[in-house]
Amino acid sequence: MEQVEHIYINGRFTLPQGEERLTLHNPCTGEAVTQVRLASTADLEEAVAAAVSAFPAMARTDLDQRAAYLLALQQAVAARKEELVAVTVDEYGGPVSGVRARFDFALNSFTHAIQVMGEYPFERSVGAAVVQDIPLGVVGIITPWNSSHGFICNKLAMAIASGSTAIIKPSELSARQTQLLLECFHQAGLPDGVFNVINGRGAEVGAAMVRHPEIAKISFTGSSAVGKQIVRDGADTMKRVTLELGGKSANILLPDVDLNGAIPLALQIAFNNSGQACLAGTRLLVPRQRLAEVERGVLTALPRVAVGHPWDEQVYIGPMVNESQYQRVQAYIHKGMAEGARLLAGGAGRPEGMTQGYFVRPTIFTEVSNQMSIAREEIFGPVLCIIAYDSVEEAIRIANDSPYGLHAYVSSTDEQHARDVAAQLQAGRVCINGWRHEPLAPFGGFRQSGLGREFGIEGLRVYLEPRVLL
Ligand code: NAD
Repeated sequence: MEQVEHIYINGRFTLPQGEERLTLHNPCTGEAVTQVRLASTADLEEAVAAAVSAFPAMARTDLDQRAAYLLALQQAVAARKEELVAVTVDEYGGPVSGVRARFDFALNSFTHAIQVMGEYPFERSVGAAVVQDIPLGVVGIITPWNSSHGFICNKLAMAIASGSTAIIKPSELSARQTQLLLECFHQAGLPDGVFNVINGRGAEVGAAMVRHPEIAKISFTGSSAVGKQIVRDGADTMKRVTLELGGKSANILLPDVDLNGAIPLALQIAFNNSGQACLAGTRLLVPRQRLAEVERGVLTALPRVAVGHPWDEQVYIGPMVNESQYQRVQAYIHKGMAEGARLLAGGAGRPEGMTQGYFVRPTIFTEVSNQMSIAREEIFGPVLCIIAYDSVEEAIRIANDSPYGLHAYVSSTDEQHARDVAAQLQAGRVCINGWRHEPLAPFGGFRQSGLGREFGIEGLRVYLEPRVLL
């Protein structure tokens, strides 16, 4: 079994004081494959000390120096692309084509940070005052397992662009991915203590980071439940927080939609990253008069969405990350049936012919009411709910009637109509007639999908605090 032993503090790989070991399983087989030694809160104290002592020099660096650090990190990560892709596919089970695309996102986050930093007005005049946006101090970065490299690279890039130092606590489930990324970061040769990385349990080490008085800010991506806990735990130290949380995004097909394009797109955005994606469009809102047509179209298109081994280039849906995620999806499928939704495709259990691993059947419920828990709660697996609406006003109301507000999608042959509908949606991002990403535009959610924004100017601002000179 592979052992992940080390954490990274003050420029060195080091054995943690914590001795607990967590076993990780191959998502395709269920076989135990990795043991990760977890850090403890004593390790966190060392990481904090290193980040605190590295901060004054880091805060004094000019933009050229920060750009040099960011480019060094990018080059070191780029040099090991194939290994980083491979470890992600093996450890997490993400289908390889999607993992490659997300790797590019991770890599580009360094150059985007340089661009944003170059355009940012760090110092400006306001009336008689000079306003200086200065780095916050030590930043705590806490990430989930579903796109580990992307989240770590993007958050660290922005912390460095701001002149802050960082402590990163990745998900316990991405230990091998983190270890390899760390080797790249180490190769970049940044000053000791600028970034420190500790594996550890969220409820122990993550929570201790959130409460720590010498950590100024937490940048978190993960579930809304943990996001709320972070707000509570951070209150005593008035922690600055950026929270990128869950979603239950609506995909509205307007009455005049061209289903030939819209249905394959709907499956693609619902089942992206095997359905383990915060921005998945998991509520498909369709005009009631076209419901039967949509159902037929979905049944025709679904077999083209391949489920299988993540190394197969044709596969779009791989296994769930672990046993508990597999069980969570199964439980929601049972719940959907118990709530009275009609199962159009898929269902409980593994796909036909699969006898091991955390593979689930891509599942489509129709005749779903927006009040059912399968329509309100984030499932984080390949489960799509079709909800019929009687008027466009009702579609907008349903789309906005959600605890979440991360993302939305609108399709219509009349683009202006789609834009008018988009303008009435409470979501951090709305894609019209397609699915696009703009890494320089702010990303984040309304309501329980988060607090604050990442990416672009807004993404840098949240690592800074204004100081006024008069
Ligand atoms: P999670 O919330 O369980 O864990 C995320 C991280 O938080 C892990 O590193 C974990 O160890 C840590 N953690 C757990 N408890 C903690 C605590 N009390 N204090 C501090 N840290 C703690 O999420 P997950 O299961 O790893 O990831 C899936 C979730 O992430 C989904 O809800 C998904 O929607 C969300 N997500 C959001 C975005 C976005 O950009 N909005 C992107 C990807 C994933």
